Parts: sequence; C-alpha cells; structure tokens
Amino acid sequence: MTDDGVVDITVLGAGPTGLAAAYYAGHRDASVRIVESLEQIGGQVAAVYPEKHVFDVAGYPKILAQDLVDLCAEQGLQYGADVRLGEEVQTLERGSRNGEEFLSVTTDKGNAFRSRALIITAGHGAFEPRKLGIDDIDVWEGRGLHYFVRQKDVFRDSACVIVGGGDSALDWTLGLQDTARLPIALVHRRDRFRALEASVNEAKELENKGHVRILTPCEIREIHGDGSIQAVSIENTATGEVDRVDCDALITLLGFHSHLGAIINWGLELEGKRQIKVDATTMETNLPLVYAAGDVAGYPGKITLITIGMAEAAIAANNAIAAIRGEKVQPKYSTD
Ligand SMILES: Cc1cc2nc3c(=O)[nH]c(=O)nc-3n(C[C@H](O)[C@H](O)[C@H](O)COP(=O)(O)OP(=O)(O)OC[C@H]3O[C@@H](n4cnc5c(N)ncnc54)[C@H](O)[C@@H]3O)c2cc1C
Repeated sequence: MTDDGVVDITVLGAGPTGLAAAYYAGHRDASVRIVESLEQIGGQVAAVYPEKHVFDVAGYPKILAQDLVDLCAEQGLQYGADVRLGEEVQTLERGSRNGEEFLSVTTDKGNAFRSRALIITAGHGAFEPRKLGIDDIDVWEGRGLHYFVRQKDVFRDSACVIVGGGDSALDWTLGLQDTARLPIALVHRRDRFRALEASVNEAKELENKGHVRILTPCEIREIHGDGSIQAVSIENTATGEVDRVDCDALITLLGFHSHLGAIINWGLELEGKRQIKVDATTMETNLPLVYAAGDVAGYPGKITLITIGMAEAAIAANNAIAAIRGEKVQPKYSTD
C-alpha cells in the first residue's frame, strides 16, 4: 500500500473467488484490499451451506464447506491483504493524484478505498432469504425461525419443520437426521420436489421408517408460540385440511433474493440481469481496469461453480497486474 492508501487491487467480496483473487494477486507481489459486506469471509459457502460436504473442488475428494473456505482464507490472506468486513461497496469513481489514476470505491460506512484496479467477486450481490408470505414473519426471527442451517448443534433434539422443495430443504432434512428430534417434517407447496432425485428417494425411504414426515402439497399458514415458536398450522392445499404440527424450529429454505444492488449503476454492461459481462479471456468488464470473476461474471456458456470462479480469479488477477505494470500477461508458477 502506498502512503496515501492506494493499493494495487481492491477485491470486492470475500467468497471463494475473492479469496483466490487475493491469493493470485499477493503471489504476484501486488497489494490487495478485500471489502466484504458480511461480517464473515467465505461468501455463499460459509453463509449458506457451511456444514455440507463439497466433492467437486480439485484436490479435495470430499471436504466440509466451512473447512474449504477456511483453507481458501489461509491461502488467500497469507500475503497480508487488508480485509474490511461489514462494509457494503456502493459507488465507484475514478480520480487521479500526482499524475496517477486510481479507482475509488465507497462503502455504506462512508469509507473510500482506492486502488489501481478492481476485481468484482460479488457473487449474487448482497443476498437475502426468501420469506414465507405470513404477516409479521420477521417477528419470529431469532425465536425459532431460521433461514440457514449454520451449525447443526443449534437443532439438537429440536422438533424441526423444514419448508422448501429444492436441494437445501432436502439436504437438511437428511443432514439433520442425526441431530434433530425425529421425525423431521418436510413441507413443500407442490407434490414434486426440485431437489436431486437421489435425495428425494432417500427422504421417502426415511419416511417409511418414520424418520421424516413429508407434507405436500402444503403451505404454512400460521405460526403459533408464546415468545418463541411452538407450532405451525399447515394447510394441505389440495384438500383444504389444516394440521397443527408442534415444533421448536421452523427452517424455511426457499432460496434467496439477490441483486447486484448499487453496482448496477456503475455503467457496467450486464450479461442477462444478474451478471456482469466480461471478456472471458481477460475477465475485464467494459470499464477499464475493472474485472469481474466468479458467480457475478457472465459470458456465454458460463458455469457457476467454485472451481470456475477460482480459475477466473487467476485470469483476472494476472490480467489486472499486467495492465497496472504495463507487462505482458504471463503465469508465474508458485513452486519454489
Ligand atoms: C446450497 C449451495 C450448494 C452449492 N454447492 C456447490 C458445490 O458443491 N460445488 C461448487 O462448485 N459450487 C457450489 N455452489 C456454488 C458456489 O457456492 C458458488 O459458485 C461460489 O460461492 C461463488 O463464489 P463467489 O466468491 O464468486 O461468490 P459468493 O460466494 O457469493 O461470495 C460473494 C461475496 O461478495 C459479497 N458482496 C456482494 N456484494 C457486495 C458489496 N456490494 N460489497 C461488499 N461485499 C459484497 C457477498 O457478501 C459475498 O460474501 C453451491 C451453492 C449453493 C447455494
């Protein structure tokens, strides 16, 4: 970092892609600052599925998601990146001082961070869970209503109602079998689940054993409790029958609303509605010295996977460094 606080690269977002970008930049002796809106690093992996196993990251046949991002952090931060947590980046401006041009991002905390290049690794942007359409639903947050399963132990011996039809709902119906009180009730508004067939079949087998109660096509109509959740009313939408199910935990896994937020106003060309268009050979956006990588970066044929984001981070960091230094893009091996 120079005396006036200008670093070589600002990395926007501390998910696996941002941490990989920090690694590649640090490995090339570039100074890095990471700005992350959450109070923790690890992106979706740490926020959404820390206790799931990941099987498709090269070199790891099976690894707990949180362990994976812990290792990404160890690797990515080893060169001393300046990490700013709990600050959402909102604006991007360009400036110059003493003849040197720089980019400046400002955050919701009012801080301005300057750098020679910017790599946006914002994933789906700031994300928020989809909520049940029940009046005053927010009142139950912290009182038995959960949008994530961060630590399985929170649900030890709890009577759980899980709502959703996708992978997360099925994964946690199976994943909490050794923790929660059985049976776990799984509520979905349609008869068919979107989740992986193998998970749905496993849940049906567990239903035969009395370990899962599958309630479809059903919707939660009311939450009951005195201070904390004690039961929910569940309507079968085919028959109109309403069943009251006792529970301590209502886990709604209905996906997320995500939006790029203020980033959308920066004049970036988009790929579809949710991704920033990049040249896939450099990961540069339409704005000079602004790169994007990971889930947020779009080009024809893009696949949103951790491994792909890490590879794009390497491309973005190497191209950013070459542009800042006026060099040719070249890989530098890490082996010593
Ligand atoms: C349930 C689930 C299971 C998955 N399983 C797998 C799997 O098995 N294998 C696989 O490869 N992929 C999997 N994925 C996808 C994988 O998690 C993503 O591809 C990966 O997290 C993308 O990493 P990223 O760093 O690009 O974005 P993210 O992980 O989304 O991180 C982006 C970060 O940027 C921050 N941010 C956003 N906007 C701002 C802002 N304005 N200011 C500051 N910070 C900001 C966010 O808070 C976030 O921390 C799964 C995803 C889900 C939801």
